[in-house]
Amino acid sequence: MASGKINVSVENIFPLIKKFLYSDHEIFLRELISNATDATLKLKHLTSIGEAAVEYGNPKIEIKIDKEGKKLHIIDQGLGMTMGEVEKYINQIAFSGAEEFLEKYKDTAKDSGVIGHFGLGFYSAFMVASKVEIITKSFKDEPAAHWICDGSPEFSLESHSKTERGTEIILHIADDSLEFLEESKISGLLNKYNKFMPIPIQFGTKKEALPKPENAADDYKTEYIDVDNIINNPNPAWTKQPSDLTTEDYTNFYRELYPTQFEEPLFNIHLNVDYPFNLTGILYFPKLAADLQIQKDKIQLYQNQVFVTDNVEGIVPEFLTMLKGVIDSPDIPLNVSRSYLQADGNVKKISNYITRKVSDKLKSLFNENREDFESKWNDIKIVLEYGMLSEAKFYEKAGDFVLYPTTDGKFYTLAELKEALAANQTDKDGKLVVLYASNQDAQHSYIDIAKEKGYQVLVLDSPIVSHLIQKLEADNENLTFARVDADHIDKLIAKEETQISKLSEEEKEQLKTTLEAIVPKEKYAVQLEAMDSNAAPFMITQPEFMRRMKEMSQSGGGGMFGMGNFPEMYNLVVNTNSELATSILATENQETKDSLVKQALDLAKLSQGLLKGEELTSFVKRNFESLK
Ligand code: ADP
Ligand code: MG
Repeated sequence: MASGKINVSVENIFPLIKKFLYSDHEIFLRELISNATDATLKLKHLTSIGEAAVEYGNPKIEIKIDKEGKKLHIIDQGLGMTMGEVEKYINQIAFSGAEEFLEKYKDTAKDSGVIGHFGLGFYSAFMVASKVEIITKSFKDEPAAHWICDGSPEFSLESHSKTERGTEIILHIADDSLEFLEESKISGLLNKYNKFMPIPIQFGTKKEALPKPENAADDYKTEYIDVDNIINNPNPAWTKQPSDLTTEDYTNFYRELYPTQFEEPLFNIHLNVDYPFNLTGILYFPKLAADLQIQKDKIQLYQNQVFVTDNVEGIVPEFLTMLKGVIDSPDIPLNVSRSYLQADGNVKKISNYITRKVSDKLKSLFNENREDFESKWNDIKIVLEYGMLSEAKFYEKAGDFVLYPTTDGKFYTLAELKEALAANQTDKDGKLVVLYASNQDAQHSYIDIAKEKGYQVLVLDSPIVSHLIQKLEADNENLTFARVDADHIDKLIAKEETQISKLSEEEKEQLKTTLEAIVPKEKYAVQLEAMDSNAAPFMITQPEFMRRMKEMSQSGGGGMFGMGNFPEMYNLVVNTNSELATSILATENQETKDSLVKQALDLAKLSQGLLKGEELTSFVKRNFESLK
């Protein structure tokens, strides 16, 4: 077997860049504008410390399309390069930069999309250009330089007559990349990557209406003039101090970020930290109740105001990825694969910081204006409940602001809930039973029964609620949750006193046999209970444990005994003290007995929302006929 080393010569680098970055070749523009921005910011710094004796002025970056000449120009008024600097930065670093690329490519081959995003800088121009020119004049008193390279390692470098300071990059767009000569394409890219970069970026001109003169004639027609079309906002809200921003500023910035979003955000969280890592940003809580599926407007990740991605997985804790807004941090290592990212200490710290800021904000909103917080509860609960389940650090703080609403419109924290229910809803074994409904309409009759007993019923209707109460029960001794329709109310909260049964043991046995012969036993287990004679004679319940396990496995509980496929099983609770029970026993005629039981079962099904389709049709028909 032969072994050896594959020799990658520099001649192969450009085709390689082109090939591996193909899916992301659009990032060349971001890279070149980043370089132009850097050049301008460097000059700003040098003038401010007195190391560049030139006027900084109001520099801008200009993007120009020359469709006929098949050229794209990126022009800046930054510090420029001398001939020697072109040699140093462009020629030499280029090759080491390319080596670095090969090194990275080796590690992250599986995730080549990641490489495509980052770190190629100037040479990414060759993804779309067959030839690149640099015409650059340094702020220093030296002649301008003209560098030309056609993608082979040979280049030419000569002096040039350019006199004004700055750099012009000219891309001779390759035949397979002509889309980058389309105005709409370029403006789309500028909007995606450069919308908040710190130096004004001009792309063509636009018409602007002149103000109407005061003495305008009646038939005055608005006049327009051409002005620079600046595509970016160099000072986005997140780069400012929270104290300098009003609520309206935050809302306006939300609109700027998501121009097609019409909903107002509920509130925002301004992130601002510089130790032990650097991070700024604004997160918004959107109204989530409307539709969870619409997740088009995501959190955007920036580095120094340059858009990087809207995939923040691993950086923002998962439960907060439902939020919107921006995060800007130069400290996130983005040129590595996502799996590495999760192991990175800085990234973990960032994620923890964000979790903490969010819980602090929720706590202060709760404390400052509880009523307002309660009114927003429905829109934020999914995020918070999901956070409690997925993020231990968040769960620890959640007691301060997570709410449990009741059917009567009250909102309790867990501590308040325990206190409010303790006297009335503690059962004979000392367990505090929290009753809840998942659907106020469907479970209306059960809620009514509970309320008649003086019990309070929570409304817990998020899809993940069964997981949440499972966790709450595990972490709170003697606390148990039961859905109102899980059993008869006296069973849900069992107290010492037991109702005396009107029926003898013998009669009960007889009733049970009668019922079991009529009621389909694969669906309903008959359960006799001695209850108040006014309580419903027939009632259908679904045991809490079964239902909860089933729900949990359906919402991704991970192998919950395969309960998802388990058949629906219900209890038919029959009140032995009801008149109906007595009548059923007393009826001799089997046909009459059958229809009595059937009618009662249908009524019980109806109040549990189980009577549907054909069964419902024939129920209605039968009852109309009985009115004749
Ligand atoms: P990076 O930006 O990461 O340093 P690049 O490959 O993008 O790497 O650029 C290499 C170098 O070329 C820059 O560091 C800078 O010194 C120089 N350079 C590139 N573009 C410009 C420009 N428009 N003006 C001045 N210098 C530039
Ligand atoms: Mg660069």
